[in-house]
Amino acid sequence: MNIKVVSKILDANDRLAETNRRKLKAAGIYTINLMGAPGAGKTSLLECVLDTLKGSLRIGIIEGDIAGADDARRIALYNVPVVQINTGGACHLDANMIGEVLNELPLDEIDMLIIENVGNLVCPAEFSLGEDIKIMVSGVTEGHDKPGKYPLMFRQSNALILNKTDLLPYVNIDMGKFRSDALSLNPEIKIFEVSCKTRDGIGEFCQWLRLQR
Ligand code: MG
Ligand code: ZN
Repeated sequence: MNIKVVSKILDANDRLAETNRRKLKAAGIYTINLMGAPGAGKTSLLECVLDTLKGSLRIGIIEGDIAGADDARRIALYNVPVVQINTGGACHLDANMIGEVLNELPLDEIDMLIIENVGNLVCPAEFSLGEDIKIMVSGVTEGHDKPGKYPLMFRQSNALILNKTDLLPYVNIDMGKFRSDALSLNPEIKIFEVSCKTRDGIGEFCQWLRLQR
């Protein structure tokens, strides 16, 4: 019985995601669903992307959090269109929430929309928002066991950003194992090692991101 209810919810979500996708496509917008655990560096990565690409690409941002507008305030400093969604407890964004806020953005003035999902390695991967690609961020402080524990996230993501490489000397992580476990779940996943603090690897990631569009 439970399984039946869940599959119905996902069907409804997929229909709404398709509506979002059509609307975004019609406006010529390339859309990214950015996922990762709390503290992985999703907002920091957005700041780096805005710093690097803002001059050549019109970027809009949707921030998803359970509460508060801290991330939207950080993004607003870059003078780009930004909307904050507060889920009020829900641990992921869904297509309905995105559909509700799309009209708050100047869609005709945006080339790339990046949606920062709620910090969580589980259900964000289960709900399509109408995006073109999914990108996940994982801090090297989170350890190398994440692909084995949260396989769906890695299967669904087009790119994996291993962030905080400046901390590698201080943490016990087997980067080779992380990479090979991620690639065995998803041979197509593109892996970038970056530090949002030192900006190492950010240029390469942004170049790839621009080419996706
Ligand atoms: Mg954030
Ligand atoms: Zn959830």
